[in-house]
Amino acid sequence: MDIRRRPPKPSQPPPPLQSASAVDHHPSSPKASDALPLPLYLTNGIFFTLFFSVAYFLLHRWGDKIRNSTPLHILTFSEIAAILCLIASFIYLLCFFGIDFVQSFISKPEEHQQFILHGDRTPIAAGDEEIVDGVVSGEIPLYSLESRLGDCLRAARIRREAVQRLVGRGLEGLPVEGFDYDSILGQCCEMPVGYVQIPVGIAGPLLLNGGEYSVPMATTEGCLVASTNRGCKAIYASGGATCVLLRDAMTRAPVVRFSSAKRAAELKFFLEDPLHFDALSVVFNKSSRFARLQNIQCAIAGKNLYIRFSCSTGDAMGMNMVSKGVQNVLDFLQNDFPDMDVIGISGNYCSDKKPSAVNWIEGRGKSVVCEAVITGDVVSKVLKTTVPSLVELNMLKNLTGSAVAGALGGFNAHAANIVSAIFIATGQDPAQNIESSHCITMMEAINGGKDLHISVTMPSIEVGTVGGGTQLASQSACLNLLGVKGANKESPGSNARLLATIVAGAVLAGELSLMSAISAGQLVKSHMKYNRSSRDIAKIGS
Ligand code: ADP
Repeated sequence: MDIRRRPPKPSQPPPPLQSASAVDHHPSSPKASDALPLPLYLTNGIFFTLFFSVAYFLLHRWGDKIRNSTPLHILTFSEIAAILCLIASFIYLLCFFGIDFVQSFISKPEEHQQFILHGDRTPIAAGDEEIVDGVVSGEIPLYSLESRLGDCLRAARIRREAVQRLVGRGLEGLPVEGFDYDSILGQCCEMPVGYVQIPVGIAGPLLLNGGEYSVPMATTEGCLVASTNRGCKAIYASGGATCVLLRDAMTRAPVVRFSSAKRAAELKFFLEDPLHFDALSVVFNKSSRFARLQNIQCAIAGKNLYIRFSCSTGDAMGMNMVSKGVQNVLDFLQNDFPDMDVIGISGNYCSDKKPSAVNWIEGRGKSVVCEAVITGDVVSKVLKTTVPSLVELNMLKNLTGSAVAGALGGFNAHAANIVSAIFIATGQDPAQNIESSHCITMMEAINGGKDLHISVTMPSIEVGTVGGGTQLASQSACLNLLGVKGANKESPGSNARLLATIVAGAVLAGELSLMSAISAGQLVKSHMKYNRSSRDIAKIGS
């Protein structure tokens, strides 16, 4: 078996990556039928009709001639035209249906090869080894295995084997068995070859708004779960934390262009006019029974207009939902602004998965503030530090230090650590960790300097409990543990909102604990203990 990657044949360039559904609908690379001016079924219909109607016409005419004793070879103009049409349609039908028919006889002995050559739609009737060979040789596209085999696990196994042979390196250690590949098809991941295992730890109970939550955290960073757990303990011992949701609105901002800045400004005024809001909402909200337009905010750059739509999205994180609503409005606006050129459904003023001031200031997803009063006693006994040193460290590190660094939303110690770990455990989009981790941590000595008031303000937590990776078995189990699995039937949106408050509560715990470790000079010591020194769990737990 040749394990080297063979260069693609010049006549058969590898097709572009397509989604599973796209593969189903457009299974092969450009076909002759693509060149037809009409759809294939219409072209076939026309030639069929032509063939049978001219055949009927000619038979009818010849019948008349025989009855009238007119010689058959004397042709009128209409008969000549009919004969030409008959020949043309016969040639077309023969080419279309005849060649396939003849080929099916010629290729019968090598049936599986015919499958390989005939495009991705065709099921592959061959053994695993033959299919791996087909993939390695480039005859079977890597992406087409699921649709052609109809068995996602088998497709992943075969792809994995083919990739190993192509690359010439092994994937031992990356498991392939034991995963439901059907659940990710067309939704979560294309061309799977296995899955990465990430341990999930539990921090808690987190006492938040009177409820207790065991927070699942998927991470490979030693210390993180232990530290967050210690923060939860301090919060619990001090009576719990309180979290308030300030805003719940996902955003999408297309960019549209006009021939003049004046026209762009006219659309801005139109969109921001409260008189137009109701009509625009009706159009926008058609995208989903959960989408509710809240606000439209515009920014101009010359002739270009950036339109930031904000809407509530129920329990979904909401990117798909808001994008559909935006498309509805753009189509609607085209009536009044036919000169509007839609450059892109996303113009980065949204702003998704990039650090940006607009999210930090205006918020995106769920905006929350979470606070707790940690008693002086708990600060010394659980966190092993003092209130004044925590307050001073917060001022010099999280506020001043971050200002010196020119931080954007990064006025915290390690919000991203907790956010990412919960996001991965609960099936959120990990890339949205960027804006979801925007956080300002405040600390203040209260009650005559005895106790500590701590708060985290997070304007852009982007979470959902339906859609995306949330429906996968492991992630959905973690959501279930928190009591926020799936859609909330009684009060749509409250599962996602609760999840956002839990994220903020866990961040509060994480901030409390890490800041305490730094202020007590314990950070390096504890990392040595949990990250490096010992594999003895009994010792770690002590
Ligand atoms: P996103 O918009 O986050 O990408 P999806 O579009 O993948 O999310 O998932 C949202 C889908 O779930 C929509 O089709 C919506 O109709 C459905 N859905 C069912 N119940 C709810 C709910 N309570 N909140 C939001 N969406 C829901």
